[in-house]
Amino acid sequence: MKEFNLNNSIRTNIQKLKGYSSARDEFKGEAEVYLDANENPFGTLNRYPDPKQTEIKDRLAVLKNIASNQIFIGNGSDEVIDIAFRIFCEPGKDKVLTFVPSYGMYNVSATINNIELIEEPLTPDFQIDTKKLSPYLKDEALKLIFICSPNNPTGNCFEEDTIAYILEKFKGIVIIDEAYIDFSTRASYIEKLAAFPNLIISQTFSKAWGLAGVRVGVAYANSAIIEVYNKVKPPYNISTLNQQAVLTKLDNLAQFEIEKNIIINQKERLVKQLEGIELIKKIYPSEANFILIEVPDATEIYNQLVSQKIITRNRHSVVKNCIRLTIGSETENRRLLNALQFMSAKVSNV
Ligand SMILES: *Cc1c(COP(=O)(O)O)cnc(C)c1O
Repeated sequence: MKEFNLNNSIRTNIQKLKGYSSARDEFKGEAEVYLDANENPFGTLNRYPDPKQTEIKDRLAVLKNIASNQIFIGNGSDEVIDIAFRIFCEPGKDKVLTFVPSYGMYNVSATINNIELIEEPLTPDFQIDTKKLSPYLKDEALKLIFICSPNNPTGNCFEEDTIAYILEKFKGIVIIDEAYIDFSTRASYIEKLAAFPNLIISQTFSKAWGLAGVRVGVAYANSAIIEVYNKVKPPYNISTLNQQAVLTKLDNLAQFEIEKNIIINQKERLVKQLEGIELIKKIYPSEANFILIEVPDATEIYNQLVSQKIITRNRHSVVKNCIRLTIGSETENRRLLNALQFMSAKVSNV
């Protein structure tokens, strides 16, 4: 196991923090009369939710082959990201590194928390430039590195050697954002947690699990990191309804596999069909549920699609003339394809 002193990474105010102790923390187990939490006796959602989300964690522990005290449940990945800033980074002083283009929330969360975010550009094939890393890895003020793999919006995974190098060399916390890992053929870095006590894996129920409306994200890490996360989170961060929605989804893993595989198959089909469209200059390889394509004029194509009530994501501001296409249902993908084919024919007729 890598040598790592967690306390050196945690802000002193958080080291001293004693987490809020709720009524449900102080009495555990089954009782008949609950008069401890100032709840209302009437109704069906009148009770506070389980602050520890024990049932969800027990299920995920089996599914991911990990101890339940290595799991944190967040109000979306957004909460997993935000709490990382609040635990590990001193506002106005510490720094965080990420590789761009990537997920926009790292920047928003850094700004909210008044932390300097270093955005190191990816190479033209969207890989991390290892040659540029060493000054960062030595910087004492750098507390956190975000690695989004598969990366949004580029769709690719980063090279395993590069991630291994960062995990070995960096003295701070590494967060690997695996929001799209279920669509990828790669293994999750969860299996590396035993070797790297400075590693946090972030996953979500918003993408492959189809529960974006429910707002549940998950962090997997060393139990000592999870303990700190639990101290910092709002006590009842996941509502009863949201916990139930996740449990219902976890009841039907076969359906999860079916839907995920339909999306992957639809992606492969769509890529083949897009290859035949002249308008599309480049299709980047994707291990996620979206494809990044390059066109001659992304804003023009985007607007034309909008006028046909088809909404894609114009990524021109981060990757020149690129549009990100989410994989939808067969019907939705066909609508998109027809529209692009029609535009392409119009252009080549001019
Ligand atoms: C969509 C996405 C998430 C999911 O965020 P939630 O808050 O869990 O919905 C996380 N990371 C990346 C890179 C994403 O693209």
